[in-house]
Amino acid sequence: MIDKEIYKAIFATAPDAVIVVDSAGKIVKANDRVQQLFGYDKQELINQPVECLIPERYAGTHHKFRDQYMENAKVREMGIGKELVAKRKDGSEFYVEISLSPMKAGEEHYTSAAIRDVSEKVVMQKQLKSSMEALANKNKELEQFAYVASHDLQSPLNTILSLVALMRREHKGEMNKNENHYLQLISQTAGRMSSLIKDLLDYSRVGREEERMQTTDCNRVVADVLKDLDASIHESQAVIEVGSLPVIQASATELRRLFQNLIANALKFRKPKVTPHVTIGVKSANGDWQFHVTDNGIGIEDRYKEKIFMIFERLHPSREYDGTGIGLAVCQKIVQSHGGKIWVESKVGEGSTFYFTIPG
Ligand code: ADP
Repeated sequence: MIDKEIYKAIFATAPDAVIVVDSAGKIVKANDRVQQLFGYDKQELINQPVECLIPERYAGTHHKFRDQYMENAKVREMGIGKELVAKRKDGSEFYVEISLSPMKAGEEHYTSAAIRDVSEKVVMQKQLKSSMEALANKNKELEQFAYVASHDLQSPLNTILSLVALMRREHKGEMNKNENHYLQLISQTAGRMSSLIKDLLDYSRVGREEERMQTTDCNRVVADVLKDLDASIHESQAVIEVGSLPVIQASATELRRLFQNLIANALKFRKPKVTPHVTIGVKSANGDWQFHVTDNGIGIEDRYKEKIFMIFERLHPSREYDGTGIGLAVCQKIVQSHGGKIWVESKVGEGSTFYFTIPG
C-alpha cells in the first residue's frame, strides 16, 4: 500500500512532465507538470492522441516513429541529435528533451514519456554557436587582411630599398656626410620595416596549410634547428642538452619554426659574460606532450609573462637585442592551432622555461 502511495507521489511531483501513452498513441495519464508546461488541464488530455502535443508539421511523421518504437520498445532518449519541438495548448512552441520507457500493465503495452523544457539551453547554445561562427569569420577576415596587407606592402618597400641602393651607387663620392647618413637611415628603417612585414606575413601563414599534420620525429626537428643555429651556438659557446623526444602528429614545418624561435630566444636573451645553457625536454602530462625549453638567461618579469606572446610586444629596444617581437606570437599561434597551450615560467636574472603542450 505504501509503495503505491510512493509511486503515485513520484509521478505527481516529478520535475519533468510525464505522460503515459497506450499502444494506439492515446494519452492515458498525465502529471501536474504537464499542466504547467503545456497549458492543458490534465483531464483534457486523457484519451487525446499524443500528437496534440506536437506541432502539426511533425505530427504526421510522429505516427511512424511511434509505431517503430512500439516494435522495439526500450528505455531511451527520443530523437538523439535532433531538436525536438513541442506545442502548448495556445499553439506556441518550445524545445524539449524526451526520455521514453516502455511499460506493461495487464495485457496492454504503454509508453511513458518524461518531457523536459530545454528552450533556454537550446537558445543559449544557438547564440553561442552563432557568436562562435561570427568570431571565426572575423578572425579569418583579419588573417586574410594581415596576409594581403603584408604581401602588398612588401613590394613598394623593396622599390624604396632598391632606389636608395641605386642613389648611393650612382652618387657615390658626390654626397656630403649628412646626405650619406640620411640615406643610410632610410635604408636601415626600410630594412626593419621589411623584416616586420616579412614576420607578419609568416605569422598570418601559420595554420593555412591544409593536410599539414604528419608523423613528425621531434628529435629530427630539433637536430635540424640546432644545425641552423650552429653559428650563434658556436659564437656564444652555448651548452645545449636535448632529452629524448617523441614522434608526434604535427606540422613538421611549424614545429620546426616553434623550436627555432624558442631556442633562438634562449640564446639571444642570455646574460652577458655567462655561458648560455639550454635544455630541451619533454614529459607526458594528462595525455598531452609537455615540452620545455629552459635557459639561464636574463629572465622575464612576472608582469610581462603574458604580454610577450602578443604580436610586436618586445621588452627591449632593437639596438639591445635584435628582433621584431613576432617570434612568440608565432609560437603561440602554432601551439594553439595544434590544440595545445604555451606559457613561461621565469625568474629575472636566473633564466626562463618556456613550456608548450601538444595533444598526445
Ligand atoms: P623578439 O625575440 O623578436 O623580440 P619574441 O616574440 O620572440 O620577439 O619575444 C618577445 C619578447 O619576449 C622579447 O623581446 C624578450 O623581451 C622576451 N623573451 C622572449 N624569450 C625570452 C627568453 N628566453 N628570455 C628572456 N626574455 C625573453
